[in-house]
Amino acid sequence: MVLELAAVTKRYGDLAALDDAGLVVRRGEFVAVVGPSGSGKSTMLNVMGTLDRPTEGTVRVAGRDIGELSDDDVSRLRADHIGFVFQHFHLAAGATATENVADGLLYAGVPRRERVSRARVALEKVGLGHRLDHRPHELSGGEKQRVAIARAIVGEPTLLLADEPTGALDSTSGAAVLQLLHDLNAGGTTIVVITHDLALAASLPRRVHVRDGVVSAAPPPAGGAAAQSARVAS
Ligand code: ADP
Repeated sequence: MVLELAAVTKRYGDLAALDDAGLVVRRGEFVAVVGPSGSGKSTMLNVMGTLDRPTEGTVRVAGRDIGELSDDDVSRLRADHIGFVFQHFHLAAGATATENVADGLLYAGVPRRERVSRARVALEKVGLGHRLDHRPHELSGGEKQRVAIARAIVGEPTLLLADEPTGALDSTSGAAVLQLLHDLNAGGTTIVVITHDLALAASLPRRVHVRDGVVSAAPPPAGGAAAQSARVAS
């Protein structure tokens, strides 16, 4: 199992931004977390991504209970297992596409030369083999998001967490980025997308709805990703 939230509550003062949430994500799944603005999606992303600890409940990533780990160990777990994609790309402005992606391996302790060669492979995988030395200001929005996706997958994370990955893109670039995520998922990457976009959510095999901090998680599709992961595991 890639990710588990069990009875997770996150409070800000009196407000339960996440209220007794449960969710299991299995290897090979592609899940949408969908809900309107203010429903608790970012809170859930922060908790799922181990950027924030819950007030109550258990979060397991790659089988490890983060409640039993020190902050340093949680950082290491995050670096080893989770790749992040954000709405506004979060690329380093002065750095080339290759440097931006190579930086995704810094915390994994990979030597520089290998970081660069793996960054090139990741950029080719997202269709940007011809943009290796471009800096963010020389790239379109869709290309920037591809660089960010390459950075997120270069370390081959157990889980890719994408927060409104098409939210800052025009519809054509957004569709291309969504297709790229589908291709990565078909290649075995487990992905959770946070979105308020119902059309995007409808295109994914599984949807988890959040409203006022309450998560209603339908079970994984029968015979779908779970069966696939059983085959991969065997
Ligand atoms: P979404 O991502 O779906 O828009 P959020 O997770 O950002 O929703 O917010 C859920 C609720 O928690 C909102 O009512 C928001 O105001 C509140 N909230 C989020 N972060 C904080 C914070 N750091 N301090 C206080 N309240 C917060």
